[in-house]
Amino acid sequence: MRSITEDPNISNKTILLRLDLNVPLVNGKITDTTRIDKIIPTLKYLIKQNSKIIILSHIGRPKGKIVKTLSLKPICKYLEKKLNKIVDLVTKNINEISNEKLFDNLNEKIVLLENIRFYFEEEKNDSNFAKQLSRLADIYVNDAFSCSHRPHASIDKITKFLPSYIGLQFDQEIGALKKITSEIKKPISCIIGGSKISTKIEVIKNLISKFDNIIIVGGMANNIIKFMGHDIGKSLQENKSDNIIREIFSLAKTKDCKIIYPEDIVVAKDLNGIPQIKEINEISQNEMILDIGPKTINIIKNLIDNSNTILWNGPAGYFENPKFANGSIQIAEKIIQNNKAKKVYAVAGGGDTVSLINSLNGINNFDFVSTAGGAFLEYLEGKELPGIKALN
Ligand code: ADP
Ligand code: MG
Repeated sequence: MRSITEDPNISNKTILLRLDLNVPLVNGKITDTTRIDKIIPTLKYLIKQNSKIIILSHIGRPKGKIVKTLSLKPICKYLEKKLNKIVDLVTKNINEISNEKLFDNLNEKIVLLENIRFYFEEEKNDSNFAKQLSRLADIYVNDAFSCSHRPHASIDKITKFLPSYIGLQFDQEIGALKKITSEIKKPISCIIGGSKISTKIEVIKNLISKFDNIIIVGGMANNIIKFMGHDIGKSLQENKSDNIIREIFSLAKTKDCKIIYPEDIVVAKDLNGIPQIKEINEISQNEMILDIGPKTINIIKNLIDNSNTILWNGPAGYFENPKFANGSIQIAEKIIQNNKAKKVYAVAGGGDTVSLINSLNGINNFDFVSTAGGAFLEYLEGKELPGIKALN
C-alpha cells in the first residue's frame, strides 16, 4: 500500500479519487461536515500538483437506483465553498461519459460524479463498471478508509485497472489505528451501538478476545433483548441473529469478556412519540426501543470509570430526536470528563458517533476520532479490509 504523496509522477495527471462524503443530511442540509473537512488536505495536495480530479463518493443507501434526495449536490456546493473553486457535479450516466467531455471547460479541474451507489454495479464489485471508471483517469486514489471494509467496484475492482494509491487521510487513519492497537492499556471497554446490526454483529464476536467489556447499546442491543425472551415490539431488528448471539455469549464466557446490554430502555410508539422509561420485560407490541434507560446509563458510567481505554462506535439511541439522545449524550459526557482528568484513553469511530461528539464540542477530549464506523471496527478485529487488500 503506497500513499499518493510517495509518487513523484502525478503532476498534470487525471486522478480518480474515491472519498467518503457520506455526511448526515437533514432536508438537503449537511448537519455535520467532519468527513468533508478531513479530506480537504488531499484535494489541496492534488490541486497543487496540477492534477485533474474526478471525485467519486456515495451517500446513503440508494441500492442501485437514482434517488433524488440522495444526490451529492449539497456536498458539491459545500466543496466549492471550502476550496473556493468550481466543482462540477456530473449527473450523466458514467457508462456514457468520456474523459475529454468531463473537463470541457479548461478552467475546470475538479468534477464530482453523482452518487456512485445509484449504479447497482458498484455494490456488485462489477468488473466492467470498474473498467469503465478507470478509462476516465490515469491514477486511482482511495481516501475513503471508512468505506474500505466494502468490496465495491470503486474501492476494490478499480485497483485492477489503474495504478492505485491511498490518500492523505487514509494514511493518517491507518497510522493512528496501528498505534492504538499496539499500545492499548487494559482494562479496555468497547461500546457498540447504532443501527447497522448486520454489519456489526459479526464483528462483536471477533472483538471478544481483545476486550474486557463489550457494552452493547442502541439498535444493536434490540436483538439481544429479544434473544433473552422479551418482546421488542416495533423496534429496529435483524432477522436470524439468534445463532450469532448465542455464539457471542458462549465465547465471552471462555474468554473472560463481559457482555453488557441494557437493563432498562426508553420506548415510544413511533420516532416522534412520547418517551417512556421501561424495564426490558415491559415493552408492548406497538412500542419501539429508542434509547437506553437511567439504570443502564449508570452501569455504563461505572464501567467507564473502571476502564483505562474506551473504544466507542454507535449511538445508544435515536439521538437525532433530542428526546432519545440522553443515553448517547451521557456516555459521551462521561468519557469526555474522564479524558479531561486523564483517566481514560478514548477512541471513537463512526459518522453518527462523531457527529454526536461534535455537537457536544467534545472532539478534543477523544485521543483519536475516526470517521469510519464499520471499517473502524473491522480494523480493530484484525481483519484485512477488502480496500486495503486490493491496494497491497
Ligand atoms: P455510526 O455512524 O456511528 O457508525 P450507525 O450508522 O451504525 O453509527 O448508527 C447510527 C444510527 O443508529 C443513528 O441514525 C441512530 O438514530 C440509530 N439508532 C441508534 N439506536 C437506535 C434505536 N434504538 N432505534 C433506531 N435507531 C437507532
Ligand atoms: Mg452512520
